[in-house]
Amino acid sequence: MIKGIAASPGYAAERVFVLKEAELVIPRETIAAAQVDPEQQKLREVIEQVKIEIAVTRETVRQRIGEHECAIFDSHLMILDDPTLVQEMDKEIKDENKNAAWAAHQVFSGHIAFFEQLDDEYLRERAADFKDLRDKIAMKMLGIVDSSLDQIERPVILVTHDLTPSQTARLKPEWIKGIVTEIGGTTSHSAILARTLQIPAVVGCGSILDEITNDTTLALDGNSGELHVNPDAERINRYQRLQQEYVEELASLRDAAHAPAHTSDGKLIEVAGNIGTPEDCKAVLANGGDGIGLFRSEFLFLEREQMPSEDEQFEAYSAVAREMAGRPVIIRTMDIGGDKQLPYLQMEPEENPFLGFRAIRLCLAEKEMFLTQLRAILRASLFGNVKVMFPMIATVEELLEAKALWELAKEQLTTRQASFAEQIEIGIMIEVPSAALIVDQLAPHVDFFSIGSNDLIQYTFAADRMNQKVGYLYNPGHPAILRLIGKVVQDAHAQGKWVGVCGEMAGDPKYAKELVALGVDELSMTSSSIPKMKQEIKKMNVPSN
Ligand code: PEP
Ligand code: MG
Repeated sequence: MIKGIAASPGYAAERVFVLKEAELVIPRETIAAAQVDPEQQKLREVIEQVKIEIAVTRETVRQRIGEHECAIFDSHLMILDDPTLVQEMDKEIKDENKNAAWAAHQVFSGHIAFFEQLDDEYLRERAADFKDLRDKIAMKMLGIVDSSLDQIERPVILVTHDLTPSQTARLKPEWIKGIVTEIGGTTSHSAILARTLQIPAVVGCGSILDEITNDTTLALDGNSGELHVNPDAERINRYQRLQQEYVEELASLRDAAHAPAHTSDGKLIEVAGNIGTPEDCKAVLANGGDGIGLFRSEFLFLEREQMPSEDEQFEAYSAVAREMAGRPVIIRTMDIGGDKQLPYLQMEPEENPFLGFRAIRLCLAEKEMFLTQLRAILRASLFGNVKVMFPMIATVEELLEAKALWELAKEQLTTRQASFAEQIEIGIMIEVPSAALIVDQLAPHVDFFSIGSNDLIQYTFAADRMNQKVGYLYNPGHPAILRLIGKVVQDAHAQGKWVGVCGEMAGDPKYAKELVALGVDELSMTSSSIPKMKQEIKKMNVPSN
């Protein structure tokens, strides 16, 4: 028996898949003086490319798993933005006449060695961040693509020296029944992600890779941290049975979630899911979601070379509408800009992108792009209960302009003799404090509001939601936020309009009671939070205003 650290509960007994670290042989070259500038330039380009990759992974994790799990990617971006680190690499290239790949490897290895010798467990874990970045930079420099994880197509226990956060984000939970790592602790990011993905995991097992191959079977107990190499049939059966029971326990929470969530004093709260792609609907339905409260449609526009066509968008929106079979589906029009850039849209760099040309502001200027999306949404409305929602509305004028384009998109479809549903609810996100304060003026023009607390908090406190240094201001429970939410609900209800919340706070049981007491009608969240939230709501007794 091998004893490691219990990192994510549950049991597994499967054959092993050994994930080898990519063999990186870093060329060590002495360069001529004339090569210094080009090598430094190459370093910068590679760092920029790695930053884009991290931002894309961050967005995937945020949409699939949740904002809470993204901190790791923010700290990776911060490391790469650190000018002293770049200076250290520049110095290695210039003073030591070394090629960029070697210089980067040396500098990162120095930081890894520093963190590895620290006593504090949390700080020691930071070595993994530098290692992840070192290898990413090296692979990009050497043109190596790591596809080994994509080859897994059978149930396995994944065994590796260490799992980087970006590898963990790429895991296919349908095949990965357990995770074992040689190093790491309960607070390592891969452990946190394994818990979120509900994959049993044991970490910090020492040099286990010496003992096993892909022919080994392992039995893993994620509650005690025990591992058994080539266990007998009795243990395999027992572990598989225990996992089955554990999954059933989780499932019974999920089953209970299929009923609507009424508070004990009788108010129905709709509990919906946030999605980024049509595939995410399955998890929303499996977790008992009452609908889609936020389809972040910009996900269709990211990670590609060209704008998706009207037909392509129609396919995606109608697939969601069909899959949700009559349940509400709120499609948010694209929220591009801020931290999300499109390579095929010429966007000038901005001093303050989060205060700049983002979301509805960009869409109102890029009319053809916006009309294409609106037509696709309209056409999809025939396949289910589709609603449209505009992000980042700050004034009544913006809303009226967006609605005028919605009407124009309808006219264009009518001219083409294409059909769409007669009644489609229109909503806006409340993310900008100015909008929160004029809900009485906005309400006559919409059917509903959904509070985007992630942005509402950042704009209310003037605190960048990606900047950890001002993270202390990011407080959803602060009276400033709760008063704004209370006012939005009151002013909306006064005109018979319903209000949802679709930012991260909506899925956090800590704030659920407060939001329900303030009169919020719908909460939309990452799908794995739905069962617990429904359970919490059913226990509440909060006569609302
Ligand atoms: C929000 O701002 O709360 C929100 C849900 O939108 P996003 O997180 O996509 O900006
Ligand atoms: Mg937002």
